[in-house]
Amino acid sequence: MTAVRKCPFCLEEVSAKATRCKHCGATLPTQKKKRRNYLAFFFFLMSLVLGVFCWYQQGIIEQQRNQIAQLERIEDSQASPSEAPGKHTGRDSTAANTRLDDSK
Ligand SMILES: [Zn+2]
Repeated sequence: MTAVRKCPFCLEEVSAKATRCKHCGATLPTQKKKRRNYLAFFFFLMSLVLGVFCWYQQGIIEQQRNQIAQLERIEDSQASPSEAPGKHTGRDSTAANTRLDDSK
């Protein structure tokens, strides 16, 4: 199967791969190939930009996670004295409940 197209200058059939018309000798436009190359380049650029964007976002997420972890550590160290009695009251309430159950 040979791809054939018409010469835009003399309207004679020429090979699609031909860069010059064999009938009139005019330089044939190769827009299709250029478009394909442009599209390939465009998709390559898009994937590159997306990849960089995802990598950049992951870096930001990791930074945020680290910041949150650091904040949680600070909060834990600050809240440890206030948290300790809370846990104790919880234990006491459960202990009281078991005692009530025992008395029944
Ligand atoms: Zn021609």
